Amino acid sequence: MPELPEVETVVKTLRPLLLDQKIKAVEIFHPKMVKPNVSIFTKSLVGKSIKAIERLGKFILFFLSDDLVVISHLRMEGKYLELKDENAPLSRFARMVFSLSDGRRIIYDDMRKFGTFELTTQSTYLQHQSLKGLGKEPLHDLDPNSIYVAFKKANRPIKSILLDQRILLGIGNIYADEILFAAKIHPLTIGKNITLDQTKAILKHAKRILHQAIANGGTRIRTYQSGQKIDGEFVTKIKVYGRDGKPCKECHHRLAKIMVGGRGTHFCPHCQHHPLLPMVIGVTGEIATGKSTLIQIGMQLGIPAIEADKFVHQFYQTKQAIGLIKKVFPESIVNGKIDRRNLLWAMVKDRRRYDLWIKILFPIIKQMIYQALIKCKAPMVLLEVPLLFQGKMDAFTDVILGVESPQALQRLRLQERNPENVEPLWILNERNLYRQFLPFIDQRLVNDSSIKIWKDRVEKTLKTYLAKTQSGINAGK
Ligand SMILES: [Zn+2]
Repeated sequence: MPELPEVETVVKTLRPLLLDQKIKAVEIFHPKMVKPNVSIFTKSLVGKSIKAIERLGKFILFFLSDDLVVISHLRMEGKYLELKDENAPLSRFARMVFSLSDGRRIIYDDMRKFGTFELTTQSTYLQHQSLKGLGKEPLHDLDPNSIYVAFKKANRPIKSILLDQRILLGIGNIYADEILFAAKIHPLTIGKNITLDQTKAILKHAKRILHQAIANGGTRIRTYQSGQKIDGEFVTKIKVYGRDGKPCKECHHRLAKIMVGGRGTHFCPHCQHHPLLPMVIGVTGEIATGKSTLIQIGMQLGIPAIEADKFVHQFYQTKQAIGLIKKVFPESIVNGKIDRRNLLWAMVKDRRRYDLWIKILFPIIKQMIYQALIKCKAPMVLLEVPLLFQGKMDAFTDVILGVESPQALQRLRLQERNPENVEPLWILNERNLYRQFLPFIDQRLVNDSSIKIWKDRVEKTLKTYLAKTQSGINAGK
Protein backbone atom coordinates (compact mmCIF):
# COMPACT_ATOMS: atom_id res chain seq x y z
CA MET A 1 0.00 0.00 0.00
CA PRO A 2 1.45 3.40 -0.84
CA GLU A 3 2.24 5.29 2.34
CA LEU A 4 2.66 9.02 2.95
CA PRO A 5 6.11 9.34 1.32
CA GLU A 6 4.97 7.42 -1.76
CA VAL A 7 1.84 9.57 -2.06
CA GLU A 8 4.02 12.68 -1.71
CA THR A 9 6.20 11.32 -4.51
CA VAL A 10 3.11 10.72 -6.67
CA VAL A 11 1.96 14.31 -6.06
CA LYS A 12 5.39 15.70 -6.97
CA THR A 13 5.43 13.59 -10.13
CA LEU A 14 1.91 14.60 -11.14
CA ARG A 15 2.38 18.37 -10.75
CA PRO A 16 4.56 18.96 -13.84
CA LEU A 17 2.34 16.59 -15.85
CA LEU A 18 -0.98 18.14 -14.93
CA LEU A 19 -0.76 21.70 -13.64
CA ASP A 20 -2.62 24.24 -15.80
CA GLN A 21 -3.80 21.49 -18.12
CA LYS A 22 -7.41 21.39 -19.27
CA ILE A 23 -9.42 18.19 -18.96
CA LYS A 24 -10.94 17.41 -22.35
CA ALA A 25 -12.67 14.16 -21.48
CA VAL A 26 -13.01 11.62 -18.66
CA GLU A 27 -13.71 7.92 -19.22
CA ILE A 28 -14.54 5.71 -16.25
CA PHE A 29 -14.34 1.91 -16.52
CA HIS A 30 -15.09 1.11 -12.89
CA PRO A 31 -18.06 3.29 -11.80
CA LYS A 32 -18.02 2.08 -8.17
CA MET A 33 -14.89 3.99 -7.28
CA VAL A 34 -16.42 7.37 -8.16
CA LYS A 35 -18.65 9.54 -5.95
CA PRO A 36 -21.32 10.89 -6.16
CA ASN A 37 -21.74 9.10 -9.53
CA VAL A 38 -20.15 8.75 -12.95
CA SER A 39 -22.42 11.21 -14.73
CA ILE A 40 -22.01 14.09 -12.24
CA PHE A 41 -18.29 13.35 -11.87
CA THR A 42 -17.63 13.37 -15.60
CA LYS A 43 -19.78 16.42 -16.35
CA SER A 44 -18.15 18.39 -13.52
CA LEU A 45 -14.59 17.66 -14.63
CA VAL A 46 -14.81 18.16 -18.38
CA GLY A 47 -13.61 21.61 -19.43
CA LYS A 48 -11.97 22.36 -16.06
CA SER A 49 -8.29 23.08 -15.66
CA ILE A 50 -6.06 21.74 -12.88
CA LYS A 51 -4.90 24.57 -10.63
CA ALA A 52 -3.10 22.76 -7.82
CA ILE A 53 -2.30 19.27 -6.56
CA GLU A 54 -1.78 18.76 -2.84
CA ARG A 55 -1.43 15.88 -0.42
CA LEU A 56 -3.30 15.52 2.86
CA GLY A 57 -2.16 12.40 4.70
CA LYS A 58 -2.48 9.72 2.08
CA PHE A 59 -5.15 11.60 0.09
CA ILE A 60 -4.32 13.39 -3.15
CA LEU A 61 -6.30 16.60 -3.68
CA PHE A 62 -6.79 18.00 -7.20
CA PHE A 63 -7.88 21.65 -7.07
CA LEU A 64 -9.75 22.49 -10.28
CA SER A 65 -11.13 25.70 -11.73
CA ASP A 66 -14.66 26.67 -10.62
CA ASP A 67 -14.01 25.83 -6.96
CA LEU A 68 -13.98 22.06 -7.54
CA VAL A 69 -11.83 19.59 -5.60
CA VAL A 70 -11.28 15.90 -6.43
CA ILE A 71 -10.17 13.73 -3.50
CA SER A 72 -8.23 10.70 -4.74
CA HIS A 73 -7.02 7.80 -2.59
CA LEU A 74 -4.81 5.09 -4.08
CA ARG A 75 -5.60 2.48 -1.37
CA MET A 76 -3.74 -0.77 -2.11
CA GLU A 77 -2.55 -0.66 -5.70
CA GLY A 78 -3.68 2.57 -7.34
CA LYS A 79 -1.24 4.45 -9.57
CA TYR A 80 -1.20 7.18 -12.21
CA LEU A 81 0.46 6.62 -15.55
CA GLU A 82 1.05 9.06 -18.38
CA LEU A 83 0.39 8.13 -22.03
CA LYS A 84 1.99 10.59 -24.47
CA ASP A 85 1.17 8.76 -27.67
CA GLU A 86 -2.50 9.14 -28.63
CA ASN A 87 -2.56 5.64 -30.09
CA ALA A 88 -0.81 3.88 -27.23
CA PRO A 89 -2.90 1.07 -25.74
CA LEU A 90 -4.26 1.49 -22.22
CA SER A 91 -2.51 -0.22 -19.36
CA ARG A 92 -3.89 -3.55 -18.19
CA PHE A 93 -5.79 -2.32 -15.16
CA ALA A 94 -6.80 1.12 -16.43
CA ARG A 95 -9.91 2.22 -14.48
CA MET A 96 -10.09 5.87 -15.52
CA VAL A 97 -8.67 7.96 -18.35
CA PHE A 98 -8.24 11.73 -18.22
CA SER A 99 -7.71 13.12 -21.71
CA LEU A 100 -5.90 16.46 -21.65
CA SER A 101 -6.26 19.27 -24.17
CA ASP A 102 -2.65 18.85 -25.33
CA GLY A 103 -3.37 15.27 -26.45
CA ARG A 104 -1.77 13.39 -23.57
CA ARG A 105 -3.73 10.99 -21.41
CA ILE A 106 -3.34 10.30 -17.68
CA ILE A 107 -4.44 6.80 -16.73
CA TYR A 108 -5.57 5.79 -13.28
CA ASP A 109 -4.53 2.14 -13.02
CA ASP A 110 -5.66 -0.04 -10.14
CA MET A 111 -5.42 -3.82 -10.20
CA ARG A 112 -7.45 -4.31 -7.03
CA LYS A 113 -10.01 -1.55 -7.64
CA PHE A 114 -9.91 -0.23 -4.06
CA GLY A 115 -8.97 3.33 -5.04
CA THR A 116 -11.56 6.10 -4.62
CA PHE A 117 -12.45 9.44 -6.26
CA GLU A 118 -14.74 11.89 -4.53
CA LEU A 119 -15.97 15.26 -5.69
CA THR A 120 -16.18 18.24 -3.34
CA THR A 121 -15.58 22.00 -3.31
CA GLN A 122 -12.77 24.25 -2.12
CA SER A 123 -14.89 25.84 0.58
CA THR A 124 -16.09 22.52 2.03
CA TYR A 125 -13.43 19.90 1.36
CA LEU A 126 -11.97 19.96 4.88
CA GLN A 127 -15.39 19.05 6.25
CA HIS A 128 -15.77 16.24 3.70
CA GLN A 129 -16.50 12.89 5.29
CA SER A 130 -13.18 11.41 4.12
CA LEU A 131 -11.07 14.29 5.42
CA LYS A 132 -12.74 15.53 8.59
CA GLY A 133 -11.38 14.22 11.87
CA LEU A 134 -8.00 13.51 10.31
CA GLY A 135 -5.05 13.89 12.63
CA LYS A 136 -2.07 16.21 12.36
CA GLU A 137 0.43 16.09 9.54
CA PRO A 138 3.67 14.67 11.03
CA LEU A 139 5.79 16.67 8.55
CA HIS A 140 4.64 19.93 10.14
CA ASP A 141 6.01 21.38 13.36
CA LEU A 142 3.64 19.99 15.94
CA ASP A 143 3.15 20.86 19.59
CA PRO A 144 4.32 17.70 21.41
CA ASN A 145 2.05 18.49 24.38
CA SER A 146 -1.14 18.23 22.34
CA ILE A 147 -0.02 14.91 20.79
CA TYR A 148 1.05 13.67 24.24
CA VAL A 149 -2.44 14.47 25.60
CA ALA A 150 -4.00 12.61 22.66
CA PHE A 151 -1.75 9.56 23.28
CA LYS A 152 -2.71 9.63 26.97
CA LYS A 153 -6.36 9.13 26.08
CA ALA A 154 -5.68 6.01 24.02
CA ASN A 155 -5.78 2.70 25.82
CA ARG A 156 -4.22 0.86 22.89
CA PRO A 157 -0.70 -0.11 21.81
CA ILE A 158 1.28 2.80 20.35
CA LYS A 159 1.71 0.86 17.11
CA SER A 160 -2.07 0.85 16.57
CA ILE A 161 -2.30 4.53 17.55
CA LEU A 162 0.29 5.50 14.94
CA LEU A 163 -1.64 3.62 12.25
CA ASP A 164 -4.93 5.23 13.24
CA GLN A 165 -5.22 8.45 11.21
CA ARG A 166 -6.97 10.47 13.93
CA ILE A 167 -3.92 11.64 15.91
CA LEU A 168 -1.12 11.59 13.36
CA LEU A 169 -1.79 11.46 9.68
CA GLY A 170 -0.38 9.26 6.98
CA ILE A 171 1.85 6.88 8.95
CA GLY A 172 1.51 3.37 7.54
CA ASN A 173 2.83 0.02 8.70
CA ILE A 174 6.42 0.30 7.46
CA TYR A 175 6.99 3.79 8.85
CA ALA A 176 5.25 3.04 12.18
CA ASP A 177 7.75 0.21 12.80
CA GLU A 178 10.69 2.36 11.73
CA ILE A 179 9.60 5.33 13.87
CA LEU A 180 9.10 3.21 17.01
CA PHE A 181 12.47 1.55 16.50
CA ALA A 182 14.20 4.92 16.13
CA ALA A 183 12.39 6.24 19.21
CA LYS A 184 13.32 3.04 21.13
CA ILE A 185 9.71 2.34 22.11
CA HIS A 186 8.25 -1.16 22.18
CA PRO A 187 5.24 -1.36 19.84
CA LEU A 188 3.05 -2.84 22.59
CA THR A 189 3.49 0.18 24.89
CA ILE A 190 0.02 1.49 25.71
CA GLY A 191 -0.70 5.09 24.63
CA LYS A 192 -1.47 6.28 28.13
CA ASN A 193 1.98 5.07 29.28
CA ILE A 194 3.88 7.01 26.61
CA THR A 195 5.87 9.83 28.24
CA LEU A 196 6.25 13.37 26.97
CA ASP A 197 9.88 12.64 26.09
CA GLN A 198 8.81 9.58 24.14
CA THR A 199 6.18 11.68 22.34
CA LYS A 200 8.88 14.14 21.37
CA ALA A 201 11.05 11.28 20.12
CA ILE A 202 8.16 9.88 18.05
CA LEU A 203 7.49 13.28 16.44
CA LYS A 204 11.17 13.96 15.80
CA HIS A 205 11.77 10.58 14.16
CA ALA A 206 8.45 10.58 12.26
CA LYS A 207 9.44 13.86 10.64
CA ARG A 208 12.99 12.74 9.92
CA ILE A 209 12.07 9.31 8.56
CA LEU A 210 9.20 10.58 6.41
CA HIS A 211 11.37 13.38 4.96
CA GLN A 212 14.12 10.89 4.26
CA ALA A 213 11.63 8.56 2.59
CA ILE A 214 10.19 11.38 0.47
CA ALA A 215 13.69 12.40 -0.60
CA ASN A 216 14.25 8.80 -1.68
CA GLY A 217 10.91 8.35 -3.40
CA GLY A 218 9.32 6.05 -0.84
CA THR A 219 9.85 2.36 -0.29
CA ARG A 220 8.36 0.73 -3.35
CA ILE A 221 7.78 -2.50 -1.51
CA ARG A 222 5.53 -4.92 -3.42
CA THR A 223 4.06 -3.51 -6.63
CA TYR A 224 3.80 0.15 -5.71
CA GLN A 225 4.71 2.57 -8.47
CA SER A 226 4.56 6.32 -8.46
CA GLY A 227 3.34 8.33 -11.47
CA GLN A 228 6.54 7.83 -13.36
CA LYS A 229 8.97 5.03 -12.82
CA ILE A 230 10.87 6.29 -9.80
CA ASP A 231 12.39 3.52 -7.74
CA GLY A 232 12.12 4.03 -4.02
CA GLU A 233 15.57 3.93 -2.48
CA PHE A 234 14.34 4.27 1.09
CA VAL A 235 14.05 0.50 1.17
CA THR A 236 17.82 0.32 1.66
CA LYS A 237 17.53 2.53 4.75
CA ILE A 238 14.89 0.36 6.43
CA LYS A 239 16.11 -0.88 9.80
CA VAL A 240 13.41 -3.21 11.13
CA TYR A 241 10.46 -3.62 8.76
CA GLY A 242 10.50 -7.07 7.17
CA ARG A 243 13.87 -7.88 8.80
CA ASP A 244 12.65 -10.27 11.51
CA GLY A 245 15.21 -13.00 12.18
CA LYS A 246 18.05 -10.73 11.04
CA PRO A 247 20.44 -8.90 13.38
CA CYS A 248 19.49 -5.41 14.57
CA LYS A 249 21.52 -2.69 12.84
CA GLU A 250 22.03 -0.81 16.13
CA CYS A 251 22.87 -3.73 18.44
CA HIS A 252 23.39 -7.35 17.37
CA HIS A 253 20.15 -8.84 18.74
CA ARG A 254 17.79 -10.81 16.54
CA LEU A 255 14.82 -8.72 15.34
CA ALA A 256 11.41 -10.11 16.24
CA LYS A 257 7.98 -10.02 14.62
CA ILE A 258 4.67 -9.99 16.47
CA MET A 259 1.10 -9.17 15.50
CA VAL A 260 -0.29 -5.90 16.90
CA GLY A 261 -3.90 -5.10 16.02
CA GLY A 262 -3.71 -7.60 13.17
CA ARG A 263 -0.63 -5.97 11.60
CA GLY A 264 2.78 -7.60 11.34
CA THR A 265 5.07 -5.59 13.61
CA HIS A 266 8.86 -5.69 13.66
CA PHE A 267 11.07 -4.60 16.54
CA CYS A 268 14.33 -5.19 18.41
CA PRO A 269 13.78 -6.82 21.83
CA HIS A 270 16.98 -5.22 23.09
CA CYS A 271 16.62 -1.65 21.77
CA GLN A 272 12.87 -1.51 22.48
CA HIS A 273 12.24 -2.75 26.02
CA HIS A 274 8.92 -4.52 26.53
CA PRO A 275 6.74 -2.22 28.68
CA LEU A 276 5.14 -5.01 30.74
CA LEU A 277 8.23 -7.05 31.49
CA PRO A 278 11.05 -6.67 34.00
CA MET A 279 14.56 -6.73 32.66
CA VAL A 280 14.74 -10.25 31.23
CA ILE A 281 18.12 -12.00 31.12
CA GLY A 282 17.82 -14.93 28.76
CA VAL A 283 19.96 -17.93 29.66
CA THR A 284 20.53 -20.52 26.97
CA GLY A 285 22.96 -23.19 25.87
CA GLU A 286 23.29 -26.91 25.32
CA ILE A 287 22.56 -29.68 27.81
CA ALA A 288 24.60 -30.02 31.03
CA THR A 289 26.66 -26.89 30.49
CA GLY A 290 25.91 -25.24 33.83
CA LYS A 291 22.68 -23.35 33.22
CA SER A 292 21.04 -24.79 36.34
CA THR A 293 23.94 -23.71 38.54
CA LEU A 294 23.66 -20.25 37.05
CA ILE A 295 19.95 -20.17 37.90
CA GLN A 296 20.66 -21.33 41.49
CA ILE A 297 23.27 -18.61 41.98
CA GLY A 298 20.84 -16.07 40.59
CA MET A 299 18.19 -17.18 43.09
CA GLN A 300 20.72 -16.83 45.92
CA LEU A 301 21.29 -13.27 44.75
CA GLY A 302 17.53 -12.69 44.89
CA ILE A 303 16.93 -12.84 41.12
CA PRO A 304 13.83 -14.92 40.36
CA ALA A 305 14.02 -17.45 37.54
CA ILE A 306 11.63 -18.81 34.97
CA GLU A 307 12.66 -22.17 33.54
CA ALA A 308 11.15 -23.50 30.32
CA ASP A 309 11.80 -27.13 31.27
CA LYS A 310 9.63 -26.74 34.38
CA PHE A 311 6.77 -25.43 32.25
CA VAL A 312 7.19 -28.35 29.85
CA HIS A 313 7.05 -30.73 32.81
CA GLN A 314 4.00 -28.94 34.20
CA PHE A 315 2.31 -29.00 30.80
CA TYR A 316 2.88 -32.76 30.42
CA GLN A 317 0.65 -33.29 33.48
CA THR A 318 -2.35 -31.71 31.75
CA LYS A 319 -5.17 -33.35 29.80
CA GLN A 320 -4.42 -31.03 26.88
CA ALA A 321 -0.86 -32.41 26.66
CA ILE A 322 -2.03 -36.02 26.90
CA GLY A 323 -4.55 -35.36 24.10
CA LEU A 324 -1.91 -33.77 21.87
CA ILE A 325 0.74 -36.44 22.57
CA LYS A 326 -1.87 -39.09 21.75
CA LYS A 327 -2.09 -37.61 18.24
CA VAL A 328 1.64 -37.29 17.60
CA PHE A 329 3.19 -40.08 19.69
CA PRO A 330 0.31 -42.48 20.51
CA GLU A 331 2.77 -45.19 21.60
CA SER A 332 3.95 -42.95 24.46
CA ILE A 333 0.60 -42.92 26.23
CA VAL A 334 0.58 -45.75 28.77
CA ASN A 335 -2.45 -46.25 31.02
CA GLY A 336 -3.76 -42.80 30.06
CA LYS A 337 -0.54 -41.05 31.07
CA ILE A 338 2.55 -39.88 29.23
CA ASP A 339 5.42 -42.33 29.62
CA ARG A 340 8.32 -39.87 29.59
CA ARG A 341 11.07 -42.38 28.85
CA ASN A 342 9.08 -43.85 26.00
CA LEU A 343 8.36 -40.34 24.69
CA LEU A 344 12.04 -39.45 24.84
CA TRP A 345 12.95 -42.42 22.66
CA ALA A 346 10.05 -41.82 20.28
CA MET A 347 11.28 -38.23 19.76
CA VAL A 348 14.83 -39.44 19.16
CA LYS A 349 13.82 -42.11 16.66
CA ASP A 350 11.39 -40.11 14.55
CA ARG A 351 12.78 -36.74 13.56
CA ARG A 352 9.70 -35.82 11.51
CA ARG A 353 7.32 -36.31 14.43
CA TYR A 354 9.77 -34.57 16.77
CA ASP A 355 9.77 -31.47 14.54
CA LEU A 356 5.98 -31.56 14.38
CA TRP A 357 5.79 -31.84 18.18
CA ILE A 358 8.15 -28.90 18.67
CA LYS A 359 5.90 -26.81 16.43
CA ILE A 360 2.92 -27.65 18.64
CA LEU A 361 4.71 -27.37 21.98
CA PHE A 362 6.71 -24.14 21.53
CA PRO A 363 3.79 -21.70 21.19
CA ILE A 364 2.12 -23.22 24.28
CA ILE A 365 5.27 -22.94 26.41
CA LYS A 366 5.97 -19.48 25.00
CA GLN A 367 2.52 -18.34 26.14
CA MET A 368 3.03 -19.85 29.62
CA ILE A 369 6.38 -18.08 29.91
CA TYR A 370 4.90 -14.76 28.78
CA GLN A 371 2.16 -15.00 31.43
CA ALA A 372 4.76 -15.77 34.10
CA LEU A 373 6.99 -12.89 32.98
CA ILE A 374 4.11 -10.41 33.08
CA LYS A 375 3.26 -11.45 36.63
CA CYS A 376 6.86 -11.09 37.76
CA LYS A 377 7.23 -8.10 40.08
CA ALA A 378 11.00 -8.17 40.44
CA PRO A 379 13.05 -5.62 38.46
CA MET A 380 15.08 -8.41 36.88
CA VAL A 381 14.39 -12.03 36.02
CA LEU A 382 16.36 -14.93 34.56
CA LEU A 383 14.67 -16.81 31.74
CA GLU A 384 16.23 -20.19 31.08
CA VAL A 385 15.31 -21.80 27.77
CA PRO A 386 17.66 -24.36 26.15
CA LEU A 387 16.06 -23.69 22.73
CA LEU A 388 15.65 -19.94 23.29
CA PHE A 389 16.23 -19.00 19.63
CA GLN A 390 14.46 -21.94 18.03
CA GLY A 391 11.44 -21.18 20.23
CA LYS A 392 11.73 -17.46 19.29
CA MET A 393 11.63 -16.61 22.99
CA ASP A 394 14.59 -14.26 22.59
CA ALA A 395 11.84 -11.75 21.70
CA PHE A 396 11.21 -11.43 25.47
CA THR A 397 14.82 -10.84 26.46
CA ASP A 398 16.83 -7.67 27.03
CA VAL A 399 20.13 -9.49 27.40
CA ILE A 400 21.17 -13.03 26.45
CA LEU A 401 23.78 -15.13 28.24
CA GLY A 402 25.10 -18.22 26.50
CA VAL A 403 26.38 -20.99 28.75
CA GLU A 404 29.05 -23.24 27.24
CA SER A 405 31.14 -26.19 28.26
CA PRO A 406 33.56 -28.60 26.55
CA GLN A 407 31.55 -31.54 25.15
CA ALA A 408 33.47 -34.12 27.19
CA LEU A 409 32.47 -32.33 30.38
CA GLN A 410 28.84 -32.06 29.23
CA ARG A 411 28.70 -35.83 28.66
CA LEU A 412 30.33 -36.55 31.99
CA ARG A 413 27.81 -34.39 33.86
CA LEU A 414 24.94 -35.96 31.95
CA GLN A 415 26.25 -39.41 32.90
CA GLU A 416 26.26 -38.43 36.58
CA ARG A 417 22.90 -36.73 36.48
CA ASN A 418 20.84 -39.02 34.28
CA PRO A 419 22.77 -42.28 33.63
CA GLU A 420 19.85 -44.20 32.10
CA ASN A 421 19.01 -41.54 29.49
CA VAL A 422 22.42 -40.31 28.34
CA GLU A 423 22.06 -41.52 24.74
CA PRO A 424 18.60 -40.13 23.89
CA LEU A 425 19.28 -36.84 25.68
CA TRP A 426 22.56 -36.46 23.83
CA ILE A 427 20.85 -37.03 20.47
CA LEU A 428 18.16 -34.45 21.32
CA ASN A 429 20.89 -32.05 22.43
CA GLU A 430 22.40 -32.25 18.95
CA ARG A 431 19.17 -30.72 17.67
CA ASN A 432 19.85 -27.63 19.79
CA LEU A 433 21.11 -25.10 17.24
CA TYR A 434 22.69 -22.88 19.92
CA ARG A 435 25.98 -22.57 17.98
CA GLN A 436 24.20 -21.18 14.92
CA PHE A 437 22.87 -18.28 16.99
CA LEU A 438 26.14 -17.17 18.61
CA PRO A 439 26.07 -13.71 16.93
CA PHE A 440 22.91 -12.90 18.90
CA ILE A 441 24.43 -13.72 22.32
CA ASP A 442 25.51 -10.80 24.52
CA GLN A 443 27.86 -12.70 26.75
CA ARG A 444 29.26 -16.22 26.45
CA LEU A 445 30.07 -17.82 29.80
CA VAL A 446 32.39 -20.81 29.66
CA ASN A 447 32.14 -23.45 32.37
CA ASP A 448 35.31 -25.49 31.84
CA SER A 449 37.04 -25.92 35.17
CA SER A 450 36.09 -26.24 38.82
CA ILE A 451 32.65 -25.57 40.20
CA LYS A 452 34.14 -22.84 42.38
CA ILE A 453 35.54 -20.92 39.42
CA TRP A 454 32.23 -21.33 37.58
CA LYS A 455 30.24 -20.02 40.54
CA ASP A 456 32.53 -17.02 40.90
CA ARG A 457 32.28 -16.24 37.20
CA VAL A 458 28.49 -16.44 37.23
CA GLU A 459 28.14 -14.43 40.42
CA LYS A 460 30.35 -11.66 39.07
CA THR A 461 28.37 -11.51 35.81
CA LEU A 462 24.94 -11.49 37.43
CA LYS A 463 26.00 -8.84 39.93
CA THR A 464 26.98 -6.46 37.13
CA TYR A 465 23.50 -6.77 35.58
CA LEU A 466 21.88 -6.49 38.99
CA ALA A 467 23.82 -3.27 39.67
CA LYS A 468 22.61 -1.85 36.37
CA THR A 469 18.97 -2.59 37.18
CA GLN A 470 19.30 -1.19 40.67
CA SER A 471 20.81 2.02 39.36
CA GLY A 472 17.89 2.24 36.94
CA ILE A 473 19.91 1.69 33.81
CA ASN A 474 18.69 -1.00 31.52
CA ALA A 475 21.51 -3.51 31.24
CA GLY A 476 23.36 -3.85 28.03
CA LYS A 477 22.55 -0.33 26.89
ZN1 LIG B 1 18.72 -3.54 18.70
